[in-house]
Amino acid sequence: MSQTDGRNATALRIGAMTGDGIGHEIVPATIRVVDAALVAADGPAVDWVHLPLGLGAIDEHGTPMPDSTLATLGELESWILGPHDSASYPDPFRSQLTPGGRIRKEFDLFANIRPARALPGVRSVSPRMDLVVVRENTEGFYADRNMFVGSGEFMPTPDVALAVGVFTRAACERIAREAFSLAERRSRKLTIVHKTNVLAMTTGLFRDACRAVGEQFPHVEVAEEHVDALAAHLVRRGEDYDVIVAENMFGDILSDLTGELSGSLGTAPSLNSSETQAMAQASHGSAPDIAGKNRANPTALFLSAAMLLEWLAPRHRDERLAAAARRIRHAVEATVESGVATADLGGQASTSAFTEAVEARVHRR
Ligand code: ATP
Repeated sequence: MSQTDGRNATALRIGAMTGDGIGHEIVPATIRVVDAALVAADGPAVDWVHLPLGLGAIDEHGTPMPDSTLATLGELESWILGPHDSASYPDPFRSQLTPGGRIRKEFDLFANIRPARALPGVRSVSPRMDLVVVRENTEGFYADRNMFVGSGEFMPTPDVALAVGVFTRAACERIAREAFSLAERRSRKLTIVHKTNVLAMTTGLFRDACRAVGEQFPHVEVAEEHVDALAAHLVRRGEDYDVIVAENMFGDILSDLTGELSGSLGTAPSLNSSETQAMAQASHGSAPDIAGKNRANPTALFLSAAMLLEWLAPRHRDERLAAAARRIRHAVEATVESGVATADLGGQASTSAFTEAVEARVHRR
C-alpha cells in the first residue's frame, strides 16, 4: 500500500516537457488522461513539474536544454518528454546532441523498451503482433553515445568518414537482465539479435553477454538471429516473437519496423529507464507538418505514460498506479475500436475530440 492515503496528499511528482511541434498538443492531452485515470483508480494526484525544453527554451533561456531543466530532472524519479524538432534549431544547437539524447546520456537511461502490439480495429500489416524490442540505449553502433568528449565520428579527409562502435560487457549484461526479466513476466521467449558473421567481436560480445545472463533465467526459451534475417522474419511472421534484445542501432531500426508493422507511428509507445529513473517518450517525432492543427494522434504518448505508471507501481508499492495504467490502455483500445480515431488511423477525430473520448472511457470499468 502506498504511503499516500487520499487524493490530496501528493506523493507523485512527475516532470513534463512539451518539447516542439505536436508536443504542445499531445503532452497536455496526456496529462489530462493520466490525471483522469488516477482519479478513476482512486490513486494519488500528480504534482506535474513543467520544465522548459526545445524551441521555447531557446527563446527564453538561450538553449534548447537549460541546465535548470537538467538539474530538476536530477531530483525527479520520472517524467514525460514530448517530441523535439532539433533539425529546426538554429546553429550551434542543430549540430549538438539532441535534448532527448542529452537526457538519456546524462541520466544513463540505458533501457529503451518499445512494445509493438496491434490495436483492435486498426488496420495493420501484422494484426497479431505482440512483442517488445528491448534496445540498449547508451553505446553500440551509435557513435554519438560513445565518447566522453566528441562525437565518435571522424573525417580524416573530405572523402573518408569513420565511426566508432562501443560494446562493454557491463552494458550488454544490464540490458540483457532487463530483457530476460521482462521475458519471464511475459511468454518466456527471448531473441538475441547480433551479426556475428561480420561483426564477430562487437556483436559477439553482445550475444555472449546475453547468453551468460540467460543462464540465470532457465525458464526463458532463447533464440539467436542475425539482424538482417530477423528483419525479414518480422515482416513474414512477426507474431512468433515476444521479447527481442538488441544493441542501440539494431534496436532503433527494428523497433521502427515493428511499430509500423503493428500499427502506425502515432501509436508506438516507449519507455527509457535506468535502475532509478524513467522517461515516457513516444517513438515518433514532432510531426511539424501537422503541428498546431489539432490533428496529431496522442495514442503513443498515452501508452508511454501508461508504461511509466506501470514502472512506478512496484517502486511505490502502489497497485493503484498499475490499475490506472490498465485503465488508460483499455480506454485507448475501446475508443479506437468504437471508431473514434485520428486521421493517421483513417478516422476523423481531432486530437482534442480523441482525448475527450479516452478521458471519458478511463472512468468506465
Ligand atoms: P524525427 O526525426 O524527429 O523522428 P521525422 O520527421 O522523421 O522526425 P515524425 O515527426 O515522426 O518523423 O513524422 C513522420 C510522419 O509521421 C509525418 O508525416 C507526421 O505527420 C506523422 N506523424 C508522426 N507522429 C504522428 C502522430 N502522433 N500523429 C499523427 N501523425 C504523426
